[in-house]
Amino acid sequence: MKTLRTITDVRAHVGAARKAGRSVALVPTMGAFHGGHEALMRAARERCDEVIVSLFVNPTQFDAAADLAGYPRSEEADAAIAARLGVDVLFAPPVEEIYPAGFATTIRVVGLADVLEGATRGARHFDAVCTVVCKLFGIVAPDVAFFGQKDAQQVVVVRRMVRDLAIPVALEVVPTVRAPDGLALSSRNARLDGAERARATALARGLEAVGAAVADGERDAAAAVAAGRAAMAAAGVQPEYLAVVDPDTLDEVRELDGRVLVVVAAHVGPARLIDNVLIDTEQVATHA
Ligand code: AMP
Repeated sequence: MKTLRTITDVRAHVGAARKAGRSVALVPTMGAFHGGHEALMRAARERCDEVIVSLFVNPTQFDAAADLAGYPRSEEADAAIAARLGVDVLFAPPVEEIYPAGFATTIRVVGLADVLEGATRGARHFDAVCTVVCKLFGIVAPDVAFFGQKDAQQVVVVRRMVRDLAIPVALEVVPTVRAPDGLALSSRNARLDGAERARATALARGLEAVGAAVADGERDAAAAVAAGRAAMAAAGVQPEYLAVVDPDTLDEVRELDGRVLVVVAAHVGPARLIDNVLIDTEQVATHA
């Protein structure tokens, strides 16, 4: 596996791969790899000939300086994991390679970027995500890009950007990877101490309770959400939001009918955690 730091080097590598008729995958990440990232890399390895993983802690998408400063960084260990999984290139650029002096462009997906995470963290969060993802698409020009269902709103926002701007890339969404107790794997989990780690399962318990209510026949979103809130309260966590939304428009739904997305965010100790589950009332089985 090669570690590349410049746009020029990545373009040369991808250009040669394309000339050889190889399909190209991109897995955008911020590093501190865990099982979730590994699932994305495995999916990319399976589907495409050439796998590029980007590792860039995008400073503009952090709303708090302390969150950026405290974000885990472990490039050496990450490179070892990527190499073991058969990744061809780790693209780990310095900040000035992505944001050269005078950088002035922002991509904004109006509406989808403003709700849920956007409402709490500020719409600038997804502006920053879209801008960096668009730039990575421009650098790598992948056939397929891999994203985790864990960040459900990110998938919805990026999908709309790709459609609106006619970016020639297919998006593949990989299911959320969880710890045995249900906690969705996240780089931020590393910040939790033992007691906080135990309380963090409240997010999964809340989502499960919403799913159980639906499986029991509940079709009123507010009632299902109330069941979820109660389960979270029992686990000692108050959600920042717990909502049932349309999986494509992110509009809140009142009546549960067909495919819905249940999203949750909560502070646990020093970490702000998010999770979600897709529920199809036609099938009533829940799947993350
Ligand atoms: P990050 O490094 O946190 O920006 O995440 C990079 C990619 O990994 C994003 O597409 C995330 O949605 C995805 N990801 C993070 N955690 C998980 C998880 N537990 N399961 C599946 N994908 C994940």
